[in-house]
Amino acid sequence: MYINVPEVKVPRVVIIGCGFGGLELVKQLSKIEVQIVLIDKNNYHTFQPLLYQVSTAGLEADSIAYPIRKIFKGQKNFHFRMGEVQQLVSEENKLITSIGEIKYDYLIIATGSTTNYFGIKDFEEHAMPMKSVTEALDLRSLILQNFEKALLIKDLHEQEALMTFAVVGGGPTGVELAGALCELKKHVLPNDYPELDFRKMRVVLIENGGELLQAMNEINRKRANTYLDELGCEVWLNTGVAKYDGSVVEMKSGKQLLTSGLIWAAGIKAVLIDGLNKESINARGRIIIDDYCKVKSYENIFAIGDAACMVQEKFRNGHPQIAPVAIQQAQLVASNLKKSLKQCAPDKFSYFDKGTMATVGRNRAVVEVGNFTFGRFFGWLAWMGLHLMLLVGFRNRVVVFINWVWSYINYDRNIRLIIRPFKKGG
Ligand SMILES: Cc1cc2nc3c(=O)[nH]c(=O)nc-3n(C[C@H](O)[C@H](O)[C@H](O)COP(=O)(O)OP(=O)(O)OC[C@H]3O[C@@H](n4cnc5c(N)ncnc54)[C@H](O)[C@@H]3O)c2cc1C
Repeated sequence: MYINVPEVKVPRVVIIGCGFGGLELVKQLSKIEVQIVLIDKNNYHTFQPLLYQVSTAGLEADSIAYPIRKIFKGQKNFHFRMGEVQQLVSEENKLITSIGEIKYDYLIIATGSTTNYFGIKDFEEHAMPMKSVTEALDLRSLILQNFEKALLIKDLHEQEALMTFAVVGGGPTGVELAGALCELKKHVLPNDYPELDFRKMRVVLIENGGELLQAMNEINRKRANTYLDELGCEVWLNTGVAKYDGSVVEMKSGKQLLTSGLIWAAGIKAVLIDGLNKESINARGRIIIDDYCKVKSYENIFAIGDAACMVQEKFRNGHPQIAPVAIQQAQLVASNLKKSLKQCAPDKFSYFDKGTMATVGRNRAVVEVGNFTFGRFFGWLAWMGLHLMLLVGFRNRVVVFINWVWSYINYDRNIRLIIRPFKKGG
């Protein structure tokens, strides 16, 4: 059965995924003589950089998620279908999805990435990921449930495990999450749970390498360490994790940490579509694309963003898996599609690095733009300004801004709600 989409005479461009890449692509294709069919398993776009604020009760989930139909309201050549793409049948230019089949003239894969546990079953089973809105909500519930349980328990070891949070992975996500957990410890949770001794609450950031924020320069790496130290976060560098049973995590060195809140921010892997040729997937599991984002061994299939890997002189292992890469690749694919319809030669991709930033609790962030770096309060202001600007939807920007101002003045987090209790195993 085919998905019900009007048959038209112009080429059909099917896009899988409405993340940063897919969303930008639809916008850029709006004025081109093509039919756009966007398929996503969710009916909303997620602003992943603020997921950690949903996890730590700083923002409502619907402040960082935006309905896809609303984003493209009124766009004439556009059709959205909510469903999960299951298989590519390239010989027939066809996709099989959970809602039926669909033919394409051009296919763009923008499926992003998911958590990578590197095959370590223990962590897959017991650790908390934070890659989607539902996972962020689960994490929020777990954090709050742990404190509710800690109140009921007399056993000191069990209480210690419930009040200790370990974040594995010292990249931007790990650093931001650890900072936010420390803020909860300092300003929020002691008011809710006055019967608990918050000197016992620990936030431990565990990093396998010798430094945090390895993609940033040395000044900012040191800054991040200092800021976390000021917030009371324990940073364990050069520490690989080996085993975890849900209450004790064992390091490769044999050292142990009692925690029933272990958050995995240590790696991601591309989300692939079954049916892609083996030769189009690299050793790290990303889709191999050329300078034009065209997938290796296909003529009319493109891939962009986290799922794809383009090797260029300055990027021997592909570009970083961050939003600006997905957005810029989407812009290139749209512009080349326009050119190909006019029989013009396509352009090659050239990444324009606008800089990187990460926030560490309130008043502190590290920012890097070219050779220029800054931190602390000005970094934090820059971080807030940029994230507000990038959020989709005016309402979301206003809601997030009000929330941030409120939290700043009151040292409070309003959304300490266990709406959907988290239960391991679903
Ligand atoms: C916690 C966190 C913090 C981050 N912080 C930053 C940051 O500060 N700055 C930054 O630049 N980047 C950040 N990133 C990375 C950034 O979010 C990604 O690089 C970006 O989202 C990649 O865009 P994308 O379009 O490739 O994929 P995504 O944005 O992940 O979108 C993929 C879409 O595909 C859909 N999908 C997947 N599989 C299927 C399927 N089979 N069928 C249908 N739909 C499917 C998904 O539902 C999703 O909507 C962060 C990521 C996380 C997780």
